[in-house]
Amino acid sequence: MDAKIAQYLETCLDCKACMKGCPMLYAHTDSPKNLLLRFTREKPSSATAFSCASCGLCAHVCPKDIDFGALFQGTKEHYAADQKVLKKYGYGAVMFHQKQSFSKRFSTLKSFTAGAYRHMAFMPGCALSSYSPSLIYTVFDYLRSQLPGIGIIQQCCGTPTRMMGDTAQFHIYRSRLESDLAAMGATTVVTACENCYMSIKNHSPHITIVSLYSLLNEIGVPKTAIDRYRSYDAVALHDPCPTRFESALQEDVRALMHTIGLSFEEFKFNRDKTQCCGSGGMMELSAPHLAKAQMQSRAAQTQCESIVSYCQSCAESMSKGGKNGLHLLDFIFMPHRLKRQAKQGVLKKWYNRYRSRRMIERL
Ligand code: SF4
Ligand code: SF4
Repeated sequence: MDAKIAQYLETCLDCKACMKGCPMLYAHTDSPKNLLLRFTREKPSSATAFSCASCGLCAHVCPKDIDFGALFQGTKEHYAADQKVLKKYGYGAVMFHQKQSFSKRFSTLKSFTAGAYRHMAFMPGCALSSYSPSLIYTVFDYLRSQLPGIGIIQQCCGTPTRMMGDTAQFHIYRSRLESDLAAMGATTVVTACENCYMSIKNHSPHITIVSLYSLLNEIGVPKTAIDRYRSYDAVALHDPCPTRFESALQEDVRALMHTIGLSFEEFKFNRDKTQCCGSGGMMELSAPHLAKAQMQSRAAQTQCESIVSYCQSCAESMSKGGKNGLHLLDFIFMPHRLKRQAKQGVLKKWYNRYRSRRMIERL
């Protein structure tokens, strides 16, 4: 890492392109070159590293390929050897979340013995299960009608643990997910979550990963959703940062919005240049003041009152940032409740996940 920092320092132009749209660099320096100089003398502090959202924007916009995100992720992994340091940045809450997410109370799977699509499993992801068991039920019911035999798995991909730098524990969770998928006979995962998508794509390459949004674009949406929103006010479309380089997925989302007749405005910083919603890298726990500021800053970048996303964490962040955050899946599957997402506390979210698990087991 030291040789890398020296190389970064030598090549950095101090143009500050990496700072625009980054939720945290401006809070630690007004000169990336000076920051790199400091890192040649001392390791980045834990407070600096744990305020990184791992959004990947800095490396993408840097003309010299300098990757602060990777540097801070490496630093988090260094500090992860000391649980006391990790706990200062909210790892206790992450550990609780992860333990519960993999527990029998909140995780489950269901496979079926007949149907041509038994090799597929729908994985809604933690945020969507916490948000709405009825949405998951409705989406899965539709998938089953189109893809007989598809199974379902309610489990976490382990990203929160990886984001905190605890890679050893992350690989334990990743293996657990892989074994459960193997037990179901699932070789293809269909996911609604952008973190699950990237985690499986990058860390379990033997599994085929498919975005639910691409799949819906291919198989079609329910007839009741087609052209349904022609008279709906225009919304803004926020692209989640984990899938910033998944251009086909981003196109499929836009095609779905056209199919349902929903007019939308693009953010100036969209697609591969999208900005973090403020919940990346577990920032809400590790640097809550920066997370809140990023939510407000991102939400204020559009005149539209409603901001639609295809990630439930992003939709929630846009509401926390002062706008009306909505999920694309509600437009397609739950049109009766489109006004606003209900605010839900932590207990209600866990209860939703419990209900979602029960619902899956009753299938
Ligand atoms: S964008 Fe790259 S070259 Fe420009 S200041 Fe940031 S790290 Fe340096
Ligand atoms: S990865 Fe994102 S949050 Fe981290 S330094 Fe780069 S732009 Fe900032």
